[in-house]
Amino acid sequence: MAHDCVIVGAGPAGMAAALTLADHGVRPLVLDRAARPGGQIYRAASASPLPDRSVLGADYAAGAELITAYTASGADHRAEADVWHVGADGKILFSTDGGTCQAEAREILLCPGALERPMPIPGWTLPGVMTAGAAQVMLKSDAVVAEGAVFAGSGPLLYLIVAQYLRLGVKVAALVDTTPRDNYLRAAPLLAGALRVPSMLTKGLSLLHEIRQAGIPVFRWASDLQVLGQDRARGLRFVTPKGAQEIAADTVFLHHGVTPNPNMTRALGVQHDWNPDQLCWHVRRDPFGQSTLAHVSVAGDGGAIVGAEGAQCEGRLAALNMLCRLGRIDRATRDHLARADLTRLKRLAGVRRFIDRLYRPQAALRVPQCPDTLVCRCEERSLGDLRAGFDAGARDPNALKSLTRCGMGPCQGRQCGPIVSQLLADWRDEPVSEVGYYRLRSPQRLLSLQELSRFNRVHPAPEEAQ
Ligand SMILES: Cc1cc2nc3c(=O)[nH]c(=O)nc-3n(C[C@H](O)[C@H](O)[C@H](O)COP(=O)(O)OP(=O)(O)OC[C@H]3O[C@@H](n4cnc5c(N)ncnc54)[C@H](O)[C@@H]3O)c2cc1C
Repeated sequence: MAHDCVIVGAGPAGMAAALTLADHGVRPLVLDRAARPGGQIYRAASASPLPDRSVLGADYAAGAELITAYTASGADHRAEADVWHVGADGKILFSTDGGTCQAEAREILLCPGALERPMPIPGWTLPGVMTAGAAQVMLKSDAVVAEGAVFAGSGPLLYLIVAQYLRLGVKVAALVDTTPRDNYLRAAPLLAGALRVPSMLTKGLSLLHEIRQAGIPVFRWASDLQVLGQDRARGLRFVTPKGAQEIAADTVFLHHGVTPNPNMTRALGVQHDWNPDQLCWHVRRDPFGQSTLAHVSVAGDGGAIVGAEGAQCEGRLAALNMLCRLGRIDRATRDHLARADLTRLKRLAGVRRFIDRLYRPQAALRVPQCPDTLVCRCEERSLGDLRAGFDAGARDPNALKSLTRCGMGPCQGRQCGPIVSQLLADWRDEPVSEVGYYRLRSPQRLLSLQELSRFNRVHPAPEEAQ
């Protein structure tokens, strides 16, 4: 028996979609690999281990309200349900509780969110080097912090986590800002569009103000980053207009933006388009999130980077479209109910364009510059290994994968995929859109035979089944 709708991902997009479906009498099955609903931004917002969660900001507190409403909506939420196959036939396979489950859906909504963009500087794979998002996951989930860390990179999420650390009184060794100076000039013409949502700009400016007031060392216009240390991180070396600098630290947090998590949508076979402004692949969709496959929609950062508020708008829009296809509302009602979110998304797009231009990461930080820097962490393949593969005739990501094993490890190319496409584009002197991406297949994670042998089907409750 098929569910009317299965949603993968209970972040802002998935939760907002479930609420809209519930408003119209559809009870979705929602699968999320995390222990609690909330996604990245609202991780553990309903059960924060911090004595005072207000240090994480007002947005985080608002997330608790969304989670409460979602929990009360009656959605069939399955926590720790890790989806590893989504088929165009509506069948979904996921691991849970040491076994494998299969669900079937008339409508599928994928909301897998974003991944942090890799920053393959020398030493990026040393113990003690993590992403700023990982710093935030540790803070939100377990109230764990790293004293005396260096934060390096660019973008709102980096400044947010630094501000969160400072509010908690955690010592920060330095913020090393890699935003290129020219970006400010390039972004200036887009400021008017961003001002259509002034609250977003105010939020960003107050974060920067907070960091300045805290008096921590801030190095701007940084380039040529290198993590120091042989067996583990001992510090960060970089260059600013004032010359070469070195900061000693046991922990280095890197971040320069996020990109859609591509594995599920790629393995399913929906069309993707290269977006040169966000420097990542977007899922091709209509304004309601409908992908190029019938009955498969995508919402939130998993389709294109839209931020938490945009993700909720997209979740609601996708839900309205699915309700229309399920015969719960007519097209005129869908269009009427969609109006506010479509308008809001247009405004948010103005801010997004400004952010994308201002925090466009340096090209030299998106691909390694030294032959011995690792590209594929799982299979330990360096820039030099890949160049040798290219010189031997591997001209596209799949050929390079076959020849070098780059992308064949447990992360299934999540880390090296964007780097490989960009490297090949540079070497071929062609745009990334021509080079393409890895061909991905299910399962999207490692599976044990024991897991596969414990097989169950998940059915809707009898009164919901048709
Ligand atoms: C590490 C990190 C931290 C971030 N922190 C912030 C922040 O503090 N503030 C902010 O404004 N923005 C933050 N962002 C950006 C933020 O992710 C989005 O703007 C917003 O959360 C997007 O909502 P979403 O619903 O599209 O995705 P998400 O919130 O990312 O939710 C996706 C959900 O899908 C689930 N999922 C993914 N794959 C699977 C699978 N295979 N099986 C089952 N479940 C799956 C995940 O567990 C997650 O709950 C962060 C991004 C990252 C990568």
